[in-house]
Amino acid sequence: MSQKSVLAEVKQVQLAVELILLGARLQFLEAEVGLSRERLIRLYKEIKGASPPKGLLPFSADWYMTWLANIHSSMFYNIYCFMRTHDDGGDLQALIKSYRLYLEQADLPEGNVVLDFTRAYTMVRFFDSGMLQLNSCCRCNGEFVAHAYDDKHDYVCVLCRPPSRAGKVRNSDKPAQPRRTARRALGRPGLTAGLAGVALGCAAAVG
Ligand SMILES: [Zn+2]
Repeated sequence: MSQKSVLAEVKQVQLAVELILLGARLQFLEAEVGLSRERLIRLYKEIKGASPPKGLLPFSADWYMTWLANIHSSMFYNIYCFMRTHDDGGDLQALIKSYRLYLEQADLPEGNVVLDFTRAYTMVRFFDSGMLQLNSCCRCNGEFVAHAYDDKHDYVCVLCRPPSRAGKVRNSDKPAQPRRTARRALGRPGLTAGLAGVALGCAAAVG
């Protein structure tokens, strides 16, 4: 084996490790990483200590429209648009970098991630295939994930007009204030104004 191919293989292993740690499913790894299925499964077991789950979950585009999911999805997709425009590392690297940045900013305890990696890349595919679009909120100018062909006129986002049950915590008598909960979900308080603003507004600024 030549030195070049050994290096190329090491890079593929590194990529696979990075993706597995982010929560990528086996189907995604097989499509994006140049390693055999057997090696990917072995890597997966070594890293996660368990076999990869079988089958892809049947995600519907409707999932991205519920209140909390829409905030997180919109935040991620705005970061992704920014990365794809400003980073020349290709679509996969843009996906990895934006997902990392999203996790960093959402700052949720482990196991409480709202938008997991599979949902994030499924959403990118939905956008690519024209099933989803970004709508600009007429109140805050943020860009939010919406169904394709939804009326963009006078669109008001889920942060400006949260549903009445938004932010209510299960098993708790004291519901959190929707807007505050939403802000917390968007990031650490100090970063909220900056990141949420930048994240949700960048598509408009960039595009
Ligand atoms: Zn708004």
